Amino acid sequence: MRSTVADLHAELVRYNLVVWTAGNVSGRIPGEDLFVIKPSGVSYDELTAANMVVCDLDGNLVEGGHSPSSDTAAHAYVYRTMPDVGGVVHTHSTYASAWAARGEAIPCVLTAMADEFGGEIPLGPFALIGDDSIGQGIVETLKGHRSKAVLMRNHGVFSIGKDPKAAVKAAVMCEDVARTVHVARQLGEPLPIPQDDIDRLYDRYQNVYGQRSPR
Ligand SMILES: [Zn+2]
Repeated sequence: MRSTVADLHAELVRYNLVVWTAGNVSGRIPGEDLFVIKPSGVSYDELTAANMVVCDLDGNLVEGGHSPSSDTAAHAYVYRTMPDVGGVVHTHSTYASAWAARGEAIPCVLTAMADEFGGEIPLGPFALIGDDSIGQGIVETLKGHRSKAVLMRNHGVFSIGKDPKAAVKAAVMCEDVARTVHVARQLGEPLPIPQDDIDRLYDRYQNVYGQRSPR
């Protein structure tokens, strides 16, 4: 899990979701009340399996020579309260954060959004770093919602997945559709997709699309 989480940070860089050290990936260690997360303030090209940090579900450092990401409390809150979540990602990716700055959910106006998110990408509350406020905002917004990504107001994106790779994919797709819908908005009013078509697209993509899993 240390090497998986370390390597996945390269995807944030590859897809232009982060600048400097502002973005992080974490992954739950299967069968343990522990997760692996980025060390605070270490640049992406210096991340290795060895300098990843292990924390418990209260966000306390368990193993590692660095202090954990400053977003650790939010990741820990999600793992504590959403047992099916195995990966969490946070970014300030440009277009998605622009929607967050305006306090707007991204409406479901692309089939790719229906596929991946099953509807709009919702807006979470404004929350300050330092306690469980951000974690609570993420969980309250995403619980019972199909979307695996939330736009935290005036802040940026948190995404979740069954594992860290799935959470990274949701963060990448969130920025992609945020950009396209933003561009569409410049040219006019994007057309909504009827709910029953969203439901059919989501069901097909989640259950039929892609290679058959051996599991
Ligand atoms: Zn942030």
